Amino acid sequence: MVEVRVDEATGGWNVLAPRRAARPDESRTPGSSPAAGSSPGPTACPFCWGSEAMTPPEVLRVPAGAPDWRVRVVPNLYAAVDPPGDTVRAPAPTPESPAPFTGRHEVLVESGRHDWDLRRGDPDEVATILFAMRERCRALAAEGPAAISVFRNYGARAGASLVHPHSQIVALDQAPPGLLDRWRRAREYHDRTGTCLHDAVAAAERRAGERIVLDLGEVLVFQDRAGSVPHQTTLMPAQRAAGLGDASDQILTVLAGTLPRVLAGLAAVLDDPAYNLVVHAGPVGDPAAEDWYRWHLTIYPRVTTVGGLEIATGVAVNPSTPEQTAGALRAEIAGRPAAG
Ligand SMILES: [Zn+2]
Repeated sequence: MVEVRVDEATGGWNVLAPRRAARPDESRTPGSSPAAGSSPGPTACPFCWGSEAMTPPEVLRVPAGAPDWRVRVVPNLYAAVDPPGDTVRAPAPTPESPAPFTGRHEVLVESGRHDWDLRRGDPDEVATILFAMRERCRALAAEGPAAISVFRNYGARAGASLVHPHSQIVALDQAPPGLLDRWRRAREYHDRTGTCLHDAVAAAERRAGERIVLDLGEVLVFQDRAGSVPHQTTLMPAQRAAGLGDASDQILTVLAGTLPRVLAGLAAVLDDPAYNLVVHAGPVGDPAAEDWYRWHLTIYPRVTTVGGLEIATGVAVNPSTPEQTAGALRAEIAGRPAAG
């Protein structure tokens, strides 16, 4: 059972999920690449071709029924949330625990090959992954969650316990305070100015220029002006859509060619860092959200650690500025031919 408890001092939510401690852990080397971190374990790894029986029944396989599938999506055996409607196991609401923390937690296995590497993925392979993510976002949205979060943890320092390439999708029946706060800021910006906050950010980055890594028109890659960690990098699609479920084929195709280049560039300038890749999205099922929110991807390299000042004040200390670092990533990527 999973329980959310409210930190009375901050109002933030903490999820207490003891079952996650039972996850198999094969990521012994922090930030290590799949190739270097651990040898492929066909008898131990539940995500490899041939190990399908080791996971809960799949919710998606691409292509359907293929033994040499390209992408597989399965419920997370060690989910951070309980399934919706699991009222027997969900705790009763109390002031300290406001409501059952329920939803869906899925794992998207990005390849049947243990040593497949997203950085070297060809655009067709990566497009298959992004289209599968979109398909699951749409299917989960039909269940009426408040929020859907898509993310990828790479390396032990980013929380990845299995090195086999995978991403995760979590649909939440209620949005936590931090997420509500992001949405509120974007909505208030729109109320105040009549424009979308993320459109305004992209326009400002294009005017400033110095933090831009790559401008493909349909996708703008830049380093966040107030990045909390070195080389925090955002890929901003130029499409009127609040969530990945509404992404266009064209945008996903451009992203599929771009994401490996950006990740390869970050691996070169930061020596294969652990990272969290997060899809930031607006609320699910609110058609008006496309007025004030644009879904986007942000990569947070895990090359610094949280210190006392951050814990005490909530202020992240980034030992670099994006104006210093964006140029290095830009040059690294410019020196690389586009994948495929
Ligand atoms: Zn594997």
